Amino acid sequence: MKTSVFHRKTLHLNEHQLFPPDNNCPFCLSTNREAAAVLQKEPDVYILACKNCYAASASRMPTQEALIEYYRNFYDNDEDTKVTFDNPERLALHILSYYNDINADEKNVQILDFGGGDSTISAIMAERMIAQDNKKEVYITVIDYNTDIKKLNNQRIKINRVNDLFEAPDNTYTIVIASAIIEHIPKPREILIKLFNVLERGAIFYARTPYILPLLKLSNSIGLHLDFAYPAHLHDLGARFWKGLTQRLSCKGEFKILRSTPSITETSFREHFFRTLAAYTLKVPGYIFKETYGFTGGWEIFIKKNNSPI
Ligand SMILES: [Zn+2]
Repeated sequence: MKTSVFHRKTLHLNEHQLFPPDNNCPFCLSTNREAAAVLQKEPDVYILACKNCYAASASRMPTQEALIEYYRNFYDNDEDTKVTFDNPERLALHILSYYNDINADEKNVQILDFGGGDSTISAIMAERMIAQDNKKEVYITVIDYNTDIKKLNNQRIKINRVNDLFEAPDNTYTIVIASAIIEHIPKPREILIKLFNVLERGAIFYARTPYILPLLKLSNSIGLHLDFAYPAHLHDLGARFWKGLTQRLSCKGEFKILRSTPSITETSFREHFFRTLAAYTLKVPGYIFKETYGFTGGWEIFIKKNNSPI
């Protein structure tokens, strides 16, 4: 199986494929940002690091037409590339391990799989929950431009595809998955707020995002080129960004970070030995030093919406 479809090379965009620069951070709207790296020249696009929320984002966002063209040409729509993980079961069980800790007595479960492709990850989670936890039914809502849907034989798993996140009802979902998706969204602020709003009390939010800016700066300083994968990747989000995000976005409810660590490694030793070894080696210090160590390549977060009255 191939790895991520988004490990494609960076594309140089021309003037008519770009929106004008926006002074405001696309997450917190602050104008307190500074250029941290160059993404492309003529027209110039930089990575701007926000000093308020610690997001790093492209200074110019691609137009929707440019993104459609990019994905049409660079998104390899093979069967093998619909999941960005060598071993989707590993990621599914990883997310589920946090769910099990907090909602073990629930009978029915609602999963929102945002950017979940053909729902491979959430479907594996649903099968496990029904088999192990005696759930009656698991309802999965998938939102993704990939319109395929997983064919399941299990009658107790209901998969529903929704085109627009804002159609999803608030205070409803037990688990919200936003795995390797936020970085692709030019205007992510309202989407993130909505993802936190749709959580019911006691529910968990899982996100996984690239975090390569420190590595990018280091590699640039020694003359190496590290690919940011622009315009597929528009943001770079690490520990400091996720810490305190719900307060910065003024999300309704009380939230608690259950886990904030370097992201689970995408590749497996069996499929991609050296890449996986490098990823593990880089991530290890990040478990200890968190915000002060940048060389992880990716970050992940589990956030719980607290049970206390809102
Ligand atoms: Zn910001």
